[in-house]
Amino acid sequence: MRGRELRGELDAFLAEAEQDLVAFRRDIHMHPELAFAEYRTTQRIAERLTAAGLTPSVLPRGTGLICDVGNGDGPTVALRADIDALPLHDEKDAPYRSTVAGACHACGHDVHTTILLGTSLFLAQQAAAGLLPGRVRLIFQPAEELPGGALEVMAHGGISGVDRIFGLHCDPRVDVGQVGLRSGPITSACDRILVRVAGPGGHTARPHLTADLVFALAKILTELPAALSRRVDPRSSLSLVWGRVEAGSAANAIPDDGVAEGTVRCLDETAWHAAPDLIKSLLESVAGAYGIEATLDYTRGVPPVVNDEVSVEMLAEAAERALGAGAVVPTQQSLGGEDFAWYLESIPGAFARLGTRSPDGVTYDIHQGTFDVDEKAISMGVRMMATTALTALWEVGPLDSITNAMA
Ligand SMILES: [Zn+2]
Ligand SMILES: [Zn+2]
Repeated sequence: MRGRELRGELDAFLAEAEQDLVAFRRDIHMHPELAFAEYRTTQRIAERLTAAGLTPSVLPRGTGLICDVGNGDGPTVALRADIDALPLHDEKDAPYRSTVAGACHACGHDVHTTILLGTSLFLAQQAAAGLLPGRVRLIFQPAEELPGGALEVMAHGGISGVDRIFGLHCDPRVDVGQVGLRSGPITSACDRILVRVAGPGGHTARPHLTADLVFALAKILTELPAALSRRVDPRSSLSLVWGRVEAGSAANAIPDDGVAEGTVRCLDETAWHAAPDLIKSLLESVAGAYGIEATLDYTRGVPPVVNDEVSVEMLAEAAERALGAGAVVPTQQSLGGEDFAWYLESIPGAFARLGTRSPDGVTYDIHQGTFDVDEKAISMGVRMMATTALTALWEVGPLDSITNAMA
């Protein structure tokens, strides 16, 4: 096992590259680009990969790219970073604050991008020295925040032939040098629903001659969440919460239409898959009882990220090897969404939370205009991602030996 040597090689690489990577991050941070508009960011990454002798392939829209390192003889492990910024005002007082009004890297994707770039440059060196026992696919994904970028990558063959995939996200509640890991679900699903109801309106003196639409809508508002809680495993925490309701314009007139909007959040993948059909059938049965028509617009967000246990073990092993004993800390499932989940619907993999807080420093939150990181997290992330890719390749071993063992 080359674990010990690898640490020394990473030390040597980062002694040269760390300052340059910090400068790269600051440049990206000063020029944030929103989902599916990451043209400059994509070009900057492509230039650096090309200069390292790699052959990046930009996705057809011109934002985001995929690049393979190493030959195709062994297994393939993918590493993914998201590259888009948020439509927020940068409220930091830092020399590298955003120069673009209404755009800010407030989710740390500039850091993810820089970590993957540093990892790419290190792995390119390893491949050139004949030390890469397989292939690593680098995925610089656009539009995580939309979401939808993961689907764009997959639609263009981004994970075809990939055996395992890893990704990470900045965690401002974890100290730099530590990594939060969890097997099973680590983020949640969040979808939106819009219910429209319609029926013959009329005078409130004669509700029996109309469909009493406001009453029926109220029944839908209360019955749907209640019935759901009795039809789904409570451990999945499937919750429907309404945010907007509208019907009618006068006290004595029954309207002929109305709408209600809300969100469906869910911790569990199985329940998430079942949710649209279940909500539709419950809606039809409640509406049918009151003689009104009801239609459901169900807008899918993302499924929960469900970490594969073996992949989490690989991450844990790599984190201890790269960052030292005690680097791994437990983390909870968050109610936020992350489109890395789409990859894990097709192939095994895992998603880590990389500590970005300075010990005893400020605790920031993501999606806030003040968000920033301890830039030591960049070299920690490179150590962690590079070691993870190599650990996964070493443990799977050359595909020939697997094929022989199975024959
Ligand atoms: Zn975000
Ligand atoms: Zn994010």
